[in-house]
Amino acid sequence: MHVSVPDNVLWRCLSGLCILTLRKPAGYYLLEDTAAEIWQAIAKGQQPDDIVASLCGRYDASPDTVRRDVNDLTEALGEQGLLAVQPECSKGSVEGAGHARQSGAILERESAEIMGIMTKMLVPLQGFLELTRRCNEKCVHCYLQDDPGDIGEGDELTLQRLKTLIAEMASAGCMELSISGGEPGIRADFDQVVYTAASHGIKVNLYTNGTAFSKQQVRDMAPLLSEVKVSLYGSDWRSHEAVTGVPGSFAATMRFLEWAKEASLEATIQFIAMRDNCSELEAVFRLANAVGFRWHVGAVIEPTLRGSLLPLKVRMSDAQALKFCQDAKRGAYGPEMAAGCRPDDKQETTLAIPCAAGFRMFSIRPDGVVYPCVRLPQEVGNVLTDSFETTWTRSPRMLDYRRQIRQGIPRWECPRCQLWRQCPLYCPGAALIETGDLWKAPASRCWFAGILKETW
Ligand code: SF4
Ligand code: SF4
Repeated sequence: MHVSVPDNVLWRCLSGLCILTLRKPAGYYLLEDTAAEIWQAIAKGQQPDDIVASLCGRYDASPDTVRRDVNDLTEALGEQGLLAVQPECSKGSVEGAGHARQSGAILERESAEIMGIMTKMLVPLQGFLELTRRCNEKCVHCYLQDDPGDIGEGDELTLQRLKTLIAEMASAGCMELSISGGEPGIRADFDQVVYTAASHGIKVNLYTNGTAFSKQQVRDMAPLLSEVKVSLYGSDWRSHEAVTGVPGSFAATMRFLEWAKEASLEATIQFIAMRDNCSELEAVFRLANAVGFRWHVGAVIEPTLRGSLLPLKVRMSDAQALKFCQDAKRGAYGPEMAAGCRPDDKQETTLAIPCAAGFRMFSIRPDGVVYPCVRLPQEVGNVLTDSFETTWTRSPRMLDYRRQIRQGIPRWECPRCQLWRQCPLYCPGAALIETGDLWKAPASRCWFAGILKETW
């Protein structure tokens, strides 16, 4: 039997656990106890026979039992694409793999259990890196549109600091980084940031309008990126550019999508449905299908990070939003959108904490300020003055934020709301922006929750 770890598998081992994922969009897996030990041995290049001998020497178990467990695990990992197993090793695999999974050695990411463990362990698994606040479009709904430009090009983290920062994030447990902006493609050193993250075993998602990249860049980036979310606001230049305010931006975004397709880049078209472009929903859905990409529709327009209600002027009317939800529910925009219109089914009357922000998620502003989440603008540290590890584990403001969250639950309005069990929209960041209080109801989200309720 010969096993090896494929290049597209990313992993971290922390406090006796190993977390695994694939570079392309995929779930997370968790290995515990002996399974984690076996994984670490395989990652060091050991083969099953060596591992069996080593485990037999340390545990009071028969070689047959240990061999079966090692085989079960390697088979299960092989089935998930997490391990390259030579064909002659696969005899008896199906039963063995089932045993390994049932035993809880491998859990899939969507399970709240893995994310719950990461949250409890305070592993900064997922982060946002806002590379710049500069943008080459002027979208009418942008949540940064009233930003007075006080984070200019000269305030942005240098490439040198970004490189050390990414290394610090990786060693603290980060496995997934969403790079956003502004328009991140504007930074001349963008490619090197992606390369650095990928080389530290971090899966990289990109949020972009696609207009600042060359065809060669797209080709070079394709193997390094997990997924690209591309903003598109209409099916033709008129509807799209009425939102972006930039002539030629539709053609540039479409060109990017074409290059992404050629380079086999995983892309999702991000369409924000608003008052003046929601008539484009069907046409954009057809376009996404024609180019073979997934699409996602955002219907909640939120105030700017500074709390201005300006973007709300362009949100859909109640009648438009209701029609959108009803059409989506009957499947007009595909099964994923239909599922998104179903009510949540929360069993808990309240949650231990509202969300991952600051517990397994973080966001870095272009000037180094750290937020618990890109949508929760409370300063909890600064990576210009401290290392990432210090910020995450010891920054007094970060510790204070976590204390605030743990102690504030009794004040939280959402669990007392009649829609609580069904509502998927609660967000302390939105509450903070809209009301100045993490625990109050965020009106922009409650509006859409009310529309969804009519659909249910
Ligand atoms: S609920 Fe809001 S604050 Fe929490 S992680 Fe999601 S977007 Fe961020
Ligand atoms: S976000 Fe609004 S509608 Fe949803 S649970 Fe909270 S208060 Fe209720």
